Amino acid sequence: MYHLSNANRITCFPDFFVPELTRTAGNVILAGMQLRKDPITRSWVITGDDPEKDKLESKVAPCRFCAGSKDTPQVVGSVPAETSPGWAARSVVHPAPFYRIEGDPKREGDGIYDRMRTVGAHEVLIENPKHDHQLWNASDGEIEKFLSLAAQRIQDLKQDQRFKYVTVFKNHGAVAGQDFAHPTSNLTATTFVPRRVLHELRAGKDYYSQKERCVFCDILAQELRQGSRVIETVGDFVACCPYAPRAPYEIWILPQTHDASFERRALAHPEMLKELATILRRTLQRVRSLTEDFQMVLHTVPNTQHKSRALQYWKTIDEDYHWHIEILPILAGGRAKSYTFKEVYYTPVTPETAAARLRSMDIDRVEE
Ligand SMILES: [Zn+2]
Ligand SMILES: [Zn+2]
Ligand SMILES: [Zn+2]
Repeated sequence: MYHLSNANRITCFPDFFVPELTRTAGNVILAGMQLRKDPITRSWVITGDDPEKDKLESKVAPCRFCAGSKDTPQVVGSVPAETSPGWAARSVVHPAPFYRIEGDPKREGDGIYDRMRTVGAHEVLIENPKHDHQLWNASDGEIEKFLSLAAQRIQDLKQDQRFKYVTVFKNHGAVAGQDFAHPTSNLTATTFVPRRVLHELRAGKDYYSQKERCVFCDILAQELRQGSRVIETVGDFVACCPYAPRAPYEIWILPQTHDASFERRALAHPEMLKELATILRRTLQRVRSLTEDFQMVLHTVPNTQHKSRALQYWKTIDEDYHWHIEILPILAGGRAKSYTFKEVYYTPVTPETAAARLRSMDIDRVEE
């Protein structure tokens, strides 16, 4: 997912609606980044013409996320440490962000369609000051600090009424779309709820309206009763393989204590992060003995402070949603390789450009 290729592509287009089309290549006019809504699935996609192929990270330059780097992007949040370098985990502005913090989303219609600017936040969460302390080989104490940072950043960004959803995810390995060599995760705050979460929210609400129970709590109860898909439990947390997996070895980590919000729970009960750190480290060790590549995503409640008509429908959201982590190992070879998390589709060619190029292709020529 989130494979980024050009650090400057968004800044090139200060206003991509008027005029939306700002560059030309041959006779094709190129457009800047924007969010567009699929009227069928009601999910938002990012599209814009991005012909550049610049690499985010140079193989020779020193790591900009290591402690002491002169090239660290702007720091926006930090978990302090007693020892050098004085921080245990910290958050910086993504050097090639998909979303920019300034401005109004300017959601507007385009005939029957909807579109808006890519307003939001895109941060890199530096999991550890040490370049080789990954979530599977760091100490539980170090992982706990990273989880605490994630909770703080989500909570902080949810103060911004423009943002409907904040997510934290990690892509590890070349196939998974890893951005940087340093142990990092991504955080995005968006003016829309990504489609997979939207599906979960709708399903959770429907289940609750029929049974007055949380579907995730019911899943956990059955999994713990049957035991055949449970990998292990650590304190309150359960790691298990979902009944209907999307890919081989898909794993979910869920707390048995019902709560819709990871960040609310983590900040009110920071002691839970120790157990979560342990089960996360142990689960990623299992994943790593299968494959180098994996994707991991945290699913938590949308921004319920957001004053939108759509969200006010979810009156039972605190009862019907249940935060969790999903992990998707990506196995080499076979048909399973093609599945990756795509919570937000990113298409670096607009349909207008695609159609113009496809139209101009020299077809139907009779071979002499
Ligand atoms: Zn580093
Ligand atoms: Zn629940
Ligand atoms: Zn989920």
